[in-house]
Amino acid sequence: MQHHFIANAPARSASERTIPVIDPSDGEPFDAIQRGTADDIDAAVHAARQCLDSVWSRLSAAERGRLLMRLAAKVAEHGEELAAIEQRDCGKPTRQARADAQALVRYFEFYAGACDKLHGETLPYQEGYAVFTWREPHGVTGHVIPWNYPMQIFGRSVGGALAAGNVCVVKPSEDACLSLLRVAQLAAECGFPAGAINIVTGYGHEVGDALARHPGIDHISFTGSPRVGTLIQQAAAERHCPVTLELGGKSPQIVFEDADLEAVLPTVVNAIVQNAGQTCSAGSRLLVQESIYEPLLERLGEAFAALRVGPAGLDLDVGPLIRASQQQRVWDFLSDAQHAGIPMVAQGQVVEEAPQSGFYQAPTLLRDVPVTHRLAQEEVFGPVLAAMPFKDEAHAVQLANATRFGLVTGIWTRDGGRQLRMARHVKSGQVFINNYGAGGGVELPFGGVKSSGYGREKGFEALYGFTTLKTVAIRHG
Ligand code: NAD
Repeated sequence: MQHHFIANAPARSASERTIPVIDPSDGEPFDAIQRGTADDIDAAVHAARQCLDSVWSRLSAAERGRLLMRLAAKVAEHGEELAAIEQRDCGKPTRQARADAQALVRYFEFYAGACDKLHGETLPYQEGYAVFTWREPHGVTGHVIPWNYPMQIFGRSVGGALAAGNVCVVKPSEDACLSLLRVAQLAAECGFPAGAINIVTGYGHEVGDALARHPGIDHISFTGSPRVGTLIQQAAAERHCPVTLELGGKSPQIVFEDADLEAVLPTVVNAIVQNAGQTCSAGSRLLVQESIYEPLLERLGEAFAALRVGPAGLDLDVGPLIRASQQQRVWDFLSDAQHAGIPMVAQGQVVEEAPQSGFYQAPTLLRDVPVTHRLAQEEVFGPVLAAMPFKDEAHAVQLANATRFGLVTGIWTRDGGRQLRMARHVKSGQVFINNYGAGGGVELPFGGVKSSGYGREKGFEALYGFTTLKTVAIRHG
């Protein structure tokens, strides 16, 4: 049985109720988390505020950096344990779970080093004045986290907030809390003061909503669906609380006829099957220049057909989806495709060892998807790739920008001029040319435009979002 983690101690929920934790690989419950309440959020915010006022705000930036560096080392030491927890809780194949634990280490290392490099400026002004700016933390920051990459999103969000001098109240997804509860314990063991990192588990409409409305929360970092992003924004608007929104995507991979197809093929496949397609930045649309559409789809079809899906512990190409309702969601999209007469090129195989009660979905490649169909417009959040042809550069830009999202774009061409023109014209928070994701570097600012959200996390840029700027003008005569 898991507990909240408040002021460096396990805590039961005021509700005295729990939520079962399900293993997506077999659909069976294996643990339980607290079903939090608004009172639990209140206790966590109180603990955070006390920590901020009495300890955290008195630490130097260098001291915060040392703590984060110690935590990075501790997480590295416990990497296998954390990966095993994440594997069972989220159904991640072993390599993916390990990669997530390693990314968490990198976030803490990066933000440890950034603490004492964040500063204001002196500004030229009239004779007789000295003017400068301070970058100040917001205070108590709230972090609402989804289930798809709990450790990575915790690292980039909480790591950045702590580095900037904030203390944190975290609401992980009810579907994936376990690794974060363990990381918070590890932080306490490293010497993080009580109240610096607090975790309250439970349902979004209960604890997530209470967090977004709590008057003691000074900034909210939300990563999740556009629908809930709107609710968070509305709740925060009541008291003009600043919000960072990291929402969904329908990211295109755009392949021109001069592209290096040997590099395109494995990258396009990986960008949609990684984490069973449950990735905000999944390359879920494939735009291919007409002249190479048929040969590329043929080779891609072979690659999809060879993909194997199964229990996380088997470490195959693809693991299960997070839960039954997510599986149903993907089935609904595929059944819509069938009704619309959208051709399926190929599908991977679910292995025999996969229990019937697990939440499996074979990766699926669809072709000639009309740009207006929901498969080309909405996030499936499963391993489904929607391919469509384009004529020329202008057509590619038109299709790429034809959704409400703008998170990531992949462009594949050897033509330098076209690389830059395309990068300029696509509406997207990140653009990758002849690669996709650049290995996920923690240094690279990440975030969206349009309904993919606003504000940036990752990289040094995140620290500006986790601080507010104070201008000080001294008249010295
Ligand atoms: P979700 O929006 O359903 O849930 C995200 C979090 O919000 C969870 O912790 C949930 O409990 C909480 N929540 C739900 N209802 C709430 C409410 N009324 N008030 C406050 N909090 C509430 O998203 P999900 O299904 O967990 O994750 C998938 C979504 O997240 C996808 O849309 C995906 O694209 C997006 N995502 C975006 C990024 C990014 O960086 N842009 C990264 C990962 C996931």
